[in-house]
Amino acid sequence: MKLNIPYKSGTVRVSSPYGMRTLNGTTAMHKGVDLVGTVKTIISPCAGKIGWAGEYDDRLSGGRTWEWGKYVRIETDDGYMVYLCHLAAVFCQAGMHVEAGDEIGTEGSTGYSTGNHLHMEVRKNGESLDPTPLLGIANRVGSYPAESDADRVCRKAGLETQTKNYINRYPYAADLWRKLWEAMR
Ligand SMILES: [Zn+2]
Repeated sequence: MKLNIPYKSGTVRVSSPYGMRTLNGTTAMHKGVDLVGTVKTIISPCAGKIGWAGEYDDRLSGGRTWEWGKYVRIETDDGYMVYLCHLAAVFCQAGMHVEAGDEIGTEGSTGYSTGNHLHMEVRKNGESLDPTPLLGIANRVGSYPAESDADRVCRKAGLETQTKNYINRYPYAADLWRKLWEAMR
């Protein structure tokens, strides 16, 4: 299982790692990782089926899913569930199939949240996993580049960095990578 950083481009900061943390004097398990992007477009980090897209208000029944605000759940063929939460907008519907890199929403602060960020959670067989090794980043506060269209095309087509750098000398390279990615996915 490998996940891409779920931001379209720009730089992504881990603002709160996975694991035990103390907030306002209370220590509890943080079952996901909090990310903040310089670019707010959220993409699917993997291929899969959209299992849920929107809000789930369970306040009256004493549930806590409402805390996620608008969220998307992606279900992979190998049994992982990926949750992307606190979204400002959702661009997908339950039942749709998505590929890694498809736009699914925008980062926001809906639900129980004190500022714009993405709470990302990965579960298998009902247990939450540390998403950071799957994302290829460290489980600590820090910044990472999100995958660009060029990176996505090269990964899928098996192109080498040398080829990517050569194409990047072309003045309309960004536009070309975008079109290639749209044609490939
Ligand atoms: Zn969180």
